[in-house]
Amino acid sequence: MADSDTQFDVIVVGAGVMGSSTAYHLAKTGNRVLILEQFDFLHHRGSSHGESRTIRATYPEDYYHDLVMESYELWKMAEAEIGYRVYFPAEQLDIGPFEDKSLVAVVETCRKHSIPHLVLDRGQLAEKYSGRVEIPADWVAVWSKYGGLIKPTKAVSMFQTLAYKNGAVLKDNAEVVEIKRDGSSGGIVISIANGESFRGKKCVVTVGAWARKLVKSVSGIELPIQPLEVAVSYWRIKEGAEAEYAIGGGLPTLASYGNPYIYGTPSWEFPGLIKVAIHGGHLCDPNKRTWGSGEQLPIAVLKEWIEGRFGGRVDSSEPAATQLCMYSMTPDEDFVIDFLGREFEKDVVIGGGFSGHGFKMAPVVGRILSELALKGEAEGVELKYFKIARFEENPKGNVKSFADQVKLH
Ligand SMILES: Cc1cc2nc3c(=O)[nH]c(=O)nc-3n(C[C@H](O)[C@H](O)[C@H](O)COP(=O)(O)OP(=O)(O)OC[C@H]3O[C@@H](n4cnc5c(N)ncnc54)[C@H](O)[C@@H]3O)c2cc1C
Repeated sequence: MADSDTQFDVIVVGAGVMGSSTAYHLAKTGNRVLILEQFDFLHHRGSSHGESRTIRATYPEDYYHDLVMESYELWKMAEAEIGYRVYFPAEQLDIGPFEDKSLVAVVETCRKHSIPHLVLDRGQLAEKYSGRVEIPADWVAVWSKYGGLIKPTKAVSMFQTLAYKNGAVLKDNAEVVEIKRDGSSGGIVISIANGESFRGKKCVVTVGAWARKLVKSVSGIELPIQPLEVAVSYWRIKEGAEAEYAIGGGLPTLASYGNPYIYGTPSWEFPGLIKVAIHGGHLCDPNKRTWGSGEQLPIAVLKEWIEGRFGGRVDSSEPAATQLCMYSMTPDEDFVIDFLGREFEKDVVIGGGFSGHGFKMAPVVGRILSELALKGEAEGVELKYFKIARFEENPKGNVKSFADQVKLH
């Protein structure tokens, strides 16, 4: 094998949306990049597959605002390069009891960052969406234009294609089993399960739900990243109302705060079905998935929410379809974006713990991870909320004034 086949400027481990976006940014700068994926590209065993992800700027944690707003621009830029669309605009509606602390924080974020928004009561909401979305009298709705949907599998494929077009080498069915210092060159040596090894000046690790396991085995560092298996449910819209709930008809993407947090998207991927799901799941081992068996989906809660929100126009008797996926949870639901440190110093960068809400920000996360690898710092972003050291100071991580969004069941 020629040296050029095994020597790279940066090696990215894991080809979900974060690794693929990182490889795209790295390759665009003219660096020699390798991306290694343990399974087939675009597999369904991680977090980045499927038909839709929501994007919204209305976060209770205001430090996500700039990341989301930059991502809107970067999604459009990547679309222009590939020549097809992965992002589809929609309005955003955040709803919940008026005293809900997360919802109050959402409004504060809107005010702080001058996000155009409206706070609507029950009557105003019913008027705005012609009764298609309803709330109880003691709830409020926060409307903003910054919502939307992204096609996940198509977006990952887009980043991989653009990385390849910019010269990256893509290798799947290549499980990384070792990452270590290269004693001779000072760089990094990466070995895969079939015995092959590759050398990189730098390495970026984006292995989703496998982060805790891989990082522990290569560095001894224990990252508090817990995989959850989650089920996404789709519900049948009653005959005659299908068009009212379809994408493009003005229906917003929905986040419903409370216990549990429930989210919904306009009907799109499966005609006649609307996605309504709980932001939660059950603990899992990514290598020993139960694939939904034993899943105790709190169907009664979903039924009640659907009946109350959609005025009887959606059949709440049972989900028409479900799909499975994984979250990688940190204790504070904030990302991990940092150098691995110890013997790797700044030569190994980690992006993980995206806690069920990272997809929308994949373009900016890729930009940040690539800059950390190439320059040792990322331009124009505050990364203190994403450092590994936050868990040494407080095992729960960042302190917030509101409850966790993701629920275990
Ligand atoms: C059901 C569901 C709904 C979601 N909804 C939203 C949403 O609406 N909006 C939003 O912003 N986000 C959402 N998310 C979250 C978002 O999808 C994730 O944050 C994101 O996909 C995480 O990507 P990743 O690249 O970190 O992980 P992954 O996609 O899992 O990628 C990691 C990759 O690393 C590979 N890998 C692991 N170990 C190794 C190894 N040793 N060697 C080589 N490769 C390895 C894995 O096989 C995998 O392909 C949702 C997630 C789920 C599951």
